[in-house]
Amino acid sequence: MDMTISAPVALKAEGIVKSFGNNRVLDGVSLTVMRGEVVCVLGPSGSGKSTLLRCLNWLAPPDEGAVWIGDERVGMRDLPGGLSATRHEREIRAQRSRIGMVFQSFNLWPHRTVLENVMEGLLCVKHMSRPEASAVAIAAVQQVGLGGKHAAYPASLSGGQQQRVGIARTLAMAPEVILFDEPTSALDPELVGEVLAVMRGLASKHTTMIVVTHEVGFARDAADRVIFMDGGHIIEQGPPAQVLGAPSSERLRQFLFRFTSETSTS
Ligand code: ADP
Ligand code: MG
Repeated sequence: MDMTISAPVALKAEGIVKSFGNNRVLDGVSLTVMRGEVVCVLGPSGSGKSTLLRCLNWLAPPDEGAVWIGDERVGMRDLPGGLSATRHEREIRAQRSRIGMVFQSFNLWPHRTVLENVMEGLLCVKHMSRPEASAVAIAAVQQVGLGGKHAAYPASLSGGQQQRVGIARTLAMAPEVILFDEPTSALDPELVGEVLAVMRGLASKHTTMIVVTHEVGFARDAADRVIFMDGGHIIEQGPPAQVLGAPSSERLRQFLFRFTSETSTS
């Protein structure tokens, strides 16, 4: 049956199961993200955070469960009689453009300028004209504070600036939700702050985002909701003050103890 969800829901996942061989990485994860909500996902390495994000945008089709962007089912099309069929790759690509993703490694084209990198998806996926794509890209680059760098090549930029270009590239596509997978983990510590500042700016403007991060400080003051995952399950979730301030599970207490003693939170 097609499941219609009410307008304020941006993205919904239900009963997501994903295994690699015998390794059941996601064991029935459900998640509803409202429009304008900022959700931070914390959890130890290997707990399934990246796999969850990749299931949400169908880069890794789940074995079981369903995902909706707005009221449209991602990856699958509902058929009469409770059946479903895989969507065409072209349709999935169009859906994916509504679910932006920012990766740990920025993957910019080295032989293209900042502006050309940001225009790429606008030209190839959104089929905008060059003048139109250029105007949208200029605004996105401005939004991440790199207005003076349109003509620069990635190699001439710091890692923090490159990641900001990566964010601009995603923003330019005007996705309904943005998934961030440890966007600051590959950066030298002194470059983390400028990327988090851009993300705080997006959060304060109520950009719908799901952020996998180890930056507990960012989660504490930018998230509307914090989710703690372990072993392919959501163990705890709620407002940051509750989840981070008064964790109810021993696993989260241990995780936070480790993180706040081993890493500096910015
Ligand atoms: P996290 O992002 O929380 O560190 P991941 O989702 O990357 O965790 O990985 C969870 C588990 O799934 C790990 O045990 C990892 O080795 C395994 N895994 C992830 N992707 C693949 C893959 N493509 N093939 C096989 N195993 C994978
Ligand atoms: Mg990961």
